[in-house]
Amino acid sequence: MQTIMIVEDEPAISRVLAAYIRKAGFASIIFDRGKEALEQLAVLQPALILLDVMLPEMDGWEVLREVRRSSVCPVIMLTAKGEIADRLAGLNSGADDYITKPFEPQEVVARIQAVLRRGTHALIAENQIQYGSLKINLNDRSVYLNDICLSITPKDFTLLLFLTEHPNQIFHREQIIEQVWGTGYDGSDRAVDHAIKRLRQALLHLPPDEGKIRTLRRTGYQFYTRREE
Ligand code: CA
Repeated sequence: MQTIMIVEDEPAISRVLAAYIRKAGFASIIFDRGKEALEQLAVLQPALILLDVMLPEMDGWEVLREVRRSSVCPVIMLTAKGEIADRLAGLNSGADDYITKPFEPQEVVARIQAVLRRGTHALIAENQIQYGSLKINLNDRSVYLNDICLSITPKDFTLLLFLTEHPNQIFHREQIIEQVWGTGYDGSDRAVDHAIKRLRQALLHLPPDEGKIRTLRRTGYQFYTRREE
């Protein structure tokens, strides 16, 4: 029997989902925190993960990123109403589908079945962010520009991934530090500037309308693109 992992901190929602999922012939297991779910991922080998965005401690995007470091397991994000940017980020960041709350449990089951029918090969192909000639592969954390593999550090990769997952959004240095270096980081925020400088150098031959890293004085940085993916 295939297991569906539910990561949701609201018991009223997760219990209803679990009941419908079981009725549809799957096993289900509920986690109310991303950390515990990640710890059990390798052991449980779920067929699919339903992942809430608004989770305490570690949000759904962070959990998703961690999942994608080691797994191509399909992920359906549960997002709050009106989170348009989040929806787009979800589909560009390795999520396979998203469902907006409030939802009908029957719809969730139908989407689970649809994603499972698509199979794993499509998921691997989708696990890539592309802006014109720039390709970012989430599976092996490689970056290609015009089919040439760029040599960048793991931290620079994480920063590039973060910015390209949220195209045209502006982030303060502090937000970038928190997302890329983690809340425990106590070094200088100049690390962000240095990493941005290295990334810009690496992306020198990316046509600016396909994408470029912009500095916005006193606000922060953004990955600017005119391309809709
Ligand atoms: Ca929640």
